[in-house]
Amino acid sequence: MRTQNLGYPRIGSQRELKKSLEQYWSGKISLQQMLLNGKDIRLQNWELQKSTGIDLIPCNDFSFYDHVLDLSLMVGAIPERFHSLMVDKQLNDYDLLFAMARGYQKDGYDITALEMTKWFDTNYHYLVPEFTANQKFSLYNTKVVQEYLEAKQSGINAKPVLLGPLSYLLLGKEKEPGFHRIDLIKNLLPVYLEVLEKLDAANAFYIQFDEPCLSLDLTYKEQSVFLKTYQEIKTKFPHLHIILTSYFDCFGHNLETVLSLPVQTIHLDLVRCPAQLDDFLTSPGFVNSKTNLSLGIVDGRNIWKNDFLTSLSLVNAAVEKLGHDRVWIAPSCSLIHCPCDLDLEVNAETLNPAIKKWMAFAKQKIEEVVTLKQLMCEVSDIQINTKFSENIAAQQDRLSSEIIHNTHVKERVLSITPDDLIRQDDFVKRKRKQRDVLKLPVFPTTTIGSFPQTAEIRAWRAKFRKGDLTEQQYDELVAKEIRDAINWQEEIGLDVLVHGEFERNDMVEYFGEQLNGFAFTQHGWVQSYGSRCVKPPVIFGDVSRPASMTVKWTSFAQSLTRKPVKGMLTGPVTILQWSFVRNDQPRSETCRQIALAIRDEVLDLEKAGISIIQIDEPAIREGLPLHKENWNEYLHWAVGSFRLAASGVKNETQIHTHMCYSEFNDIMESIADLDADVITIECSRSQMELLDVFADFSYPNDIGPGVYDIHSPRTPSKAEMIKLMQHAQSLLPADQLWVNPDCGLKTRHWVETRIALKEMVAAAKELRVTVTAD
Ligand code: GLN
Ligand code: ZN
Repeated sequence: MRTQNLGYPRIGSQRELKKSLEQYWSGKISLQQMLLNGKDIRLQNWELQKSTGIDLIPCNDFSFYDHVLDLSLMVGAIPERFHSLMVDKQLNDYDLLFAMARGYQKDGYDITALEMTKWFDTNYHYLVPEFTANQKFSLYNTKVVQEYLEAKQSGINAKPVLLGPLSYLLLGKEKEPGFHRIDLIKNLLPVYLEVLEKLDAANAFYIQFDEPCLSLDLTYKEQSVFLKTYQEIKTKFPHLHIILTSYFDCFGHNLETVLSLPVQTIHLDLVRCPAQLDDFLTSPGFVNSKTNLSLGIVDGRNIWKNDFLTSLSLVNAAVEKLGHDRVWIAPSCSLIHCPCDLDLEVNAETLNPAIKKWMAFAKQKIEEVVTLKQLMCEVSDIQINTKFSENIAAQQDRLSSEIIHNTHVKERVLSITPDDLIRQDDFVKRKRKQRDVLKLPVFPTTTIGSFPQTAEIRAWRAKFRKGDLTEQQYDELVAKEIRDAINWQEEIGLDVLVHGEFERNDMVEYFGEQLNGFAFTQHGWVQSYGSRCVKPPVIFGDVSRPASMTVKWTSFAQSLTRKPVKGMLTGPVTILQWSFVRNDQPRSETCRQIALAIRDEVLDLEKAGISIIQIDEPAIREGLPLHKENWNEYLHWAVGSFRLAASGVKNETQIHTHMCYSEFNDIMESIADLDADVITIECSRSQMELLDVFADFSYPNDIGPGVYDIHSPRTPSKAEMIKLMQHAQSLLPADQLWVNPDCGLKTRHWVETRIALKEMVAAAKELRVTVTAD
């Protein structure tokens, strides 16, 4: 029996990678220094895994930015717009990598970065490979070989990890019509074979190919290309030990394909798909083969301690059928999706030790993998027995803990009725009533919620947290920001105002900190993209709301103006999606609990005289399961949770929602099903293409298509925004349309914000004239 790890966090337990990258980008350290810092992280990770006792330690799981981008560099898939940087500027490989990741805007160049998108259903973003019809590939970079040799030098015979050729192609994008990227395999495979040859020459034996696309719904053609490709690899390198890994979901219809792939070891994600073990153990072909099975039983996507009893029963089942030698133990997926080291959480005020006891980060997870093997293989000794009984005790403790379970919350969820998910009247009636109360013009103008979070505001919050500012002092500063923001919005003539979200650090953390059932860590960072890390809250118990969370600042803002101030809330699905969620009950259950808390907040805002309330759900789409057959179930509870949060109000109260940077095409029905009175969406980058989907669907409620791309420092002109809105008007009736930016303005500066919003209001005014003239 062997243990393997699929990938270790590359950011460093003190976020060394982030710091190093940012220092290098700002010219504070040399390239040499940055490379040394990277090497330190790799060596530390290898050392740690070795001393813990992991048998197969990965290499090339490290990256200075992203492993998909690394692969584009390996195979020379460098889009043409970067070629001048290579030829004329002679950029080194690392600067080229960063240019592809972040764009290049200096020395007269203005080259856009590769597109970035979410890695499956995680919050990790990868850089999308770009392919042309006659795409050529050639070996450009041998990072994987270098890292293998580097590990060897430090005494570790590591297992090189590569994103497999088919997932690499499938995760990319055709940049011109007339071909399918999967057909590029014939050009791509030779480069992979060349890399294997180099690894072989360097004496590598195990090679891990990550093919997570095997957890998606593949076509017959794609399945057959998988087969052919791995057969060819096998023919060329029969002596190499290929480990095929996939994760995040079951193989679904690809099971037959996977079972026929000629590889030496297959890895299963038994956390996301425990049933898959049976698929393998009941397949006579597999049982009678020599293929090993790697059991991914330690959850690489969450922060909870492994349940040894459950895991051991899975391992036992596998051993019974396959024997010890063919069974491996592993985390379910790469550990880049969980934080580094729980031991760093020493501050009991931040993380309650009672909760910490139930948790495990990457370092603890590899220990669990090793312990599970010891429990299976070694003669019982005191140390191992203690680890086992400690684990059992922690599970028991968690199951019955009083800080997790709140009967009142559970009963409330049980007593939810279908009526709780329905507004008093349908949209048409509501719209009439809201019009009478709100008296808004056609093309009403608004923003998405946040105004610039200046360095000053961040500094105040940091001081307040440290105790260098009293609550009263901090509140006075926030109040002044809100007052200025309200005055300014009135002055420029916006119709629906916002308070600006100055008091919020993050749209999920702000609510989590005020809800019961949430815990926070000090060092629980996870890479989001490049140097960007996030620190998701931990939902450990039943969620409830001890007191109102936003009424104070929203009603303060409302007291300063006669215009409506929109209350701003984060929706239940987004709070769930951007947290580490408890695994002792279905996610849908936790989501409903959050929805009830938000529902109470909505009602408190209404009671306080707030007539428009926005419930943001930017993450609703990213929660979609990987297999389409599971979409309906997810959408059912996700939409239900939103409606539960939103439907308690009177007809006259207008509910908004906001979503950004998502493809809506295939979930349009569910978006409409949210039944928000107004939805604001990102649109300006795609020149309103997104709106076609809403028009084709005859979306019934009101829409604010974003006319100002807030991810760019550029400010659009009045004329540009009028043009965008006229296009919108050609697709949808004018009285259905709002005028607003794409998203919140917290990342922008006030200078641009002022210019852009003034132009936006002017645009709306001009549009009104034409409509009234009609
Ligand atoms: N209300 C939030 C803001 O304005 C929405 C952010 C988001 O969609 N990600 O910042
Ligand atoms: Zn947004």
